[in-house]
Amino acid sequence: MKKTKIITTIGPASQDIDILKQMILEGTDAVRVNMTHANHEFLADIKQKIDKLNEELKTSVSVIMDTRGPDITVGKFVSGSAYLNKDDKIRIYMNPIIGDSTKFSISYNNLINEIKCNTFIKLNDGLIELQVLEKGEDYLLCKVLVGGVIEDNKGVNIPGVSLDIPFLNEKDQDDIAFANEIGIDFVALSRVNNSEDILAVNDLLISLGNDHMGILAKVETEKAVDDIDEILRVCDGMIVARGDLGVEVPMERIPGIQKIIISKCHTAGKVSIVATEMMSSMELQARPTRAEVSDVANAVLDSCDAVMLSGETTIGKYPVETVSVMSKIIESSEYDVNYYELADKAMRTEKQDTTGMIAYSVTECANRLKTVAIMAPTMSGHTAKKMSRFRPICPVIAMSPNDSTVKNLSIYYAVYPVKIDEIKNFDQIMVKSKKVVEKLIDTNPGNKIIITGGYPFQNVKHTNFMKIEEL
Ligand code: PEP
Repeated sequence: MKKTKIITTIGPASQDIDILKQMILEGTDAVRVNMTHANHEFLADIKQKIDKLNEELKTSVSVIMDTRGPDITVGKFVSGSAYLNKDDKIRIYMNPIIGDSTKFSISYNNLINEIKCNTFIKLNDGLIELQVLEKGEDYLLCKVLVGGVIEDNKGVNIPGVSLDIPFLNEKDQDDIAFANEIGIDFVALSRVNNSEDILAVNDLLISLGNDHMGILAKVETEKAVDDIDEILRVCDGMIVARGDLGVEVPMERIPGIQKIIISKCHTAGKVSIVATEMMSSMELQARPTRAEVSDVANAVLDSCDAVMLSGETTIGKYPVETVSVMSKIIESSEYDVNYYELADKAMRTEKQDTTGMIAYSVTECANRLKTVAIMAPTMSGHTAKKMSRFRPICPVIAMSPNDSTVKNLSIYYAVYPVKIDEIKNFDQIMVKSKKVVEKLIDTNPGNKIIITGGYPFQNVKHTNFMKIEEL
């Protein structure tokens, strides 16, 4: 059983239920729908298919809705695209016009009041670069520093400039309300700048009566990197969104930022997800490059909770094969993880209380006794999350009667959530633990498991027992 989770973005290449099924069988733990490209109908269709497959396969795959966020895009062009030539002067209009290679418009008409001359503007994932020369009445005159093809509605980035765009726009609010209605498990927030952005979404969820949707912050701006500790305090996890991040900050800074985010999330007991271009050559070929294998392996060796696929599974030719290869890389790399060091780090930064001491003791015993699993009966998910933070060598099988708890745990390192009936007493959980582990893992007589949790079983966040059992 691999412990690092795989999140698969769904698009035309993977929306078919048979492809979804195969991707789950190959190791997908959660799916993501990106609302920059998808609509409500698509999201509802994927959610319905995943519910059906979870039922059929007895899995707990969760659904993440990724918001569009407060982005800026270019307008439309004559016949859909134009070529911007290096050194040409072009005009960016604040009001909609049909663009060509000398002019185009953008979606944020207050830009002219918030931008200074000499500022750099990047288009189309940073491939095109402009510099502002002058401000006209309703346009910016720019010089093309790096030219290229620009198409309708492509993204605009203005690195290092803080614009006055409200974080929670109408579309995102509407999408989050819809996600609440159909029972989506996580929302991933694009272009987060600070903790207030997360708190605004939290308030929205509270107003919708939703106390369980997990909030993941996509780190893709310089401001988010600067405010990382405050953002981490109020979210459930972070996505290192290397696509946009690589436009907003110099690309060579990404590996360092990635390592810092993984480490900070681990210390805080929050989920870390590494995303974008992990295996992008597999969009066209049936095997990855050595460098891609190394990229996935390094994220695993740094002990992130999850790795994410985007273009590979939305538009790629080999969505199922990509998940399968990624699972193999994860499984192989997990042999080389320094688990004792990770457990020590977790211990050094853990509260010196009963829950912390039990979690450390369970990990130590499980690692030294080579137990086949740690069984964690849990109502809120607290015990399982705590065990995940200690990065044990064996999987943590979380058993909960709460559907939202089960789904929420799906992206935590090493945690395999299983839905069970209400747990009434201690003896029942011992019997149930043995049954569940024997169903999920190829066990042998004499194998050991550790059962840990908080007794009595209530929705309280404490862990106060551990028991070693032989199968
Ligand atoms: C990214 O920018 O890396 C990312 C994950 O976001 P999106 O897929 O929305 O571009």
